[in-house]
Order: sequence, then structure tokens, then C-alpha cells
Amino acid sequence: MTANILFAAKPDRWTTYEAPLRRALDATGVAYDLRTDFPPEEVHYIVYAPNSAVQDFTPYTRLKAVLNLWAGVENITGNETLTVPLARMVDHGLTQGMVEWVTGHTLRYHLGMDADILGQDGTWRKHVPPLAADRKVTVLGLGELGRACAETLVSLGFDVTGWSRSAKEIPGIRCLHGAEGLPKALATAEILILLLPDTPATENTLNADTLARLPRGACLINPGRGTLIDDDALLAALDSGQVGHATLDVFRVEPLPAEHPYWTHPNVTVTPHIASETRPDTASQVIAENVRRGEAGEPFLHLVDRKLGY
Ligand code: NAP
Repeated sequence: MTANILFAAKPDRWTTYEAPLRRALDATGVAYDLRTDFPPEEVHYIVYAPNSAVQDFTPYTRLKAVLNLWAGVENITGNETLTVPLARMVDHGLTQGMVEWVTGHTLRYHLGMDADILGQDGTWRKHVPPLAADRKVTVLGLGELGRACAETLVSLGFDVTGWSRSAKEIPGIRCLHGAEGLPKALATAEILILLLPDTPATENTLNADTLARLPRGACLINPGRGTLIDDDALLAALDSGQVGHATLDVFRVEPLPAEHPYWTHPNVTVTPHIASETRPDTASQVIAENVRRGEAGEPFLHLVDRKLGY
């Protein structure tokens, strides 16, 4: 039987994805038809971006799975018309991109690069950064991305604590979990990295109470989701010096509105949701493998737990 695969995303994505998807699907040996348009009742798989035109899955009566192009699924998990398995994107190109971005911004804070670059006023001002072993970094979220970032920081010698929902044991990382683990994870975080998903349970993980638990002057890096932070509480913590600097890649409203105080705050770096992108070549292999599995009756990879929301 031919697997009918609907590509449901903005038209520019089709231009980027069509060739790598066909290459990856060809390599599986599965008979398939890949298009941007099908009668809904003929579709078996939807390769999906949540901002596509498909929002009501009810007419897709033969659907076997929705294969999300993105890692974050917060815009789909609440869709009650979706009753088939939902797989999210776990792509080693995306993971590598996040590791590089997080490592770069961590090193910026650790080495005090801003003082070197901005302080070039003719004064021989010498500041020697500590070694990584003397720098405590905490990563909130030890999933695909958080764990890879934490392990890379360990390999550079950083003193790394990680925090997740369930208990973990990861060599070289002090792993904490659950509500009781969070205050401990924050207490030592000279540099704090947020790689949690956007779920009802993670909203405002950083608020006035939790920000107050950080060491004074801590630096914050958020490539997770904007909803993880109470923005007013962060601005107050930045103004008081409780938080020394924040690098924010994701926001409650994107693009970040021009009048938002983050743009002009001297201790905030704004980046436009570029920490890491799904990479078409590697992501297409993940999607093709899930189609192959679906056709072979094997379990899908990277399924989302709709109750937990990630
Ligand atoms: P993931 O594999 O699902 O990992 C999520 C991690 O968060 C897991 O360790 C999970 O704990 C933990 N977690 C979830 N709910 C929690 C809670 N209530 N309390 C404590 N820990 C909790 O996700 P991922 O692939 O690493 O991606 C993380 C997020 O990064 C995505 O959801 C997306 O929002 C964001 N992202 C951003 C970009 C960008 O360009 N800025 C790109 C890709 C992804 P368990 O391990 O115990 O389940």
C-alpha cells in the first residue's frame, strides 16, 4: 500500500523540505506519495508545523500519525481533534545547534567577554576569569536538548547541576528533580540555562520567589520558551541586581514587540528565536524513519505524552 503523506506547513518550508524529505523517504524503501494537498480522507501521515492551515484533524479519518517538524508541541497538545499519535522533532542537527548556542552564551558569561570587548578604552584592565571547574552552571530540563548541553558543559569542565521532572542519573552531573529539587538547583546557579518545554506545570518556573533563590548577580540564558519566565519579576530582579544579565531567545509574544522593555534594558540580550532550528536534512531522516515504522507496524519514535504536554 502507498503511504499518503501530507506536508502541512507554510509554503516556504515546502521549498526547503521537499527534496530532503523525498531523499530520506526514498532511502526507506516505503512506497509513498508526498504532497501539499490531498483529500483529507486519503491522508495517512501529516508532516506538520503548528502554524499550518490544518487545525481540525477530524476529516483525516485514515490518519496514522502527525509528525511535528518542531521540537516544541505546546500549540498542538491541546487540540482535541487530534486523536492519533503525535511525534515531536528530535533531530541531531537541532540538538547540535542548541549545544553550540548554549555553550557560546555560557562562555560569554563565564569568561566575562563583554568586559573585554566593551572595556577597550585604553586602560590595561586585567580580569582573569576562573576556570570552568570553579563555575557553577544549572540546566533546568534534562531532555534531548538540556542533557546534551549539560554534558557538553561537563566536558568543558564546568560544575553542572541539572533539574528535571523525573529522577535521573547522568555521569558528571548533579541531578535533581521535582518541586523539592528546584530550590537546590537554583541556589548554586551562577549561570542558569532554561531548556524546559512550555506546559501548564512549567509556566513561570522563574518568578519572584524562584529568582530570589539564585546567587546574587546570576546570569540567565533562556532558549526554552517565553512562558517559563514571569517577565515583570525578571525585570525587577535585573533592576535590583539580583539577576546580573539575561540572554533571552524566546518570548511570550514573538516577534518581541518593539516597545517591550527587554529591548532597551542594559542587562538583557535579545535574540530572535534562533537558538536552534530544525535542520531539513537530518529532520527529514527522522520523519522518514517514523513513516517506515508506521508502515512496518513498529512503535513510533519521539511520541508526545499529551497529558504531560511534552
Ligand atoms: P524534552 O526532551 O521533552 O525535555 C524536556 C525536559 O524538561 C525533560 O528533562 C523533562 O523532565 C523536563 N520537564 C518537563 N516538565 C517539567 C516539570 N514540570 N518540572 C521539571 N522538569 C520538567 O524537550 P527538548 O527536546 O529538550 O526541548 C526542550 C524545549 O526547548 C522545547 O520544548 C522547546 O520549547 C525548546 N526549543 C527551543 C528552540 C529554540 O530555537 N529556542 C529550539 C528547539 C527547542 P523529564 O526528563 O523528567 O521528562
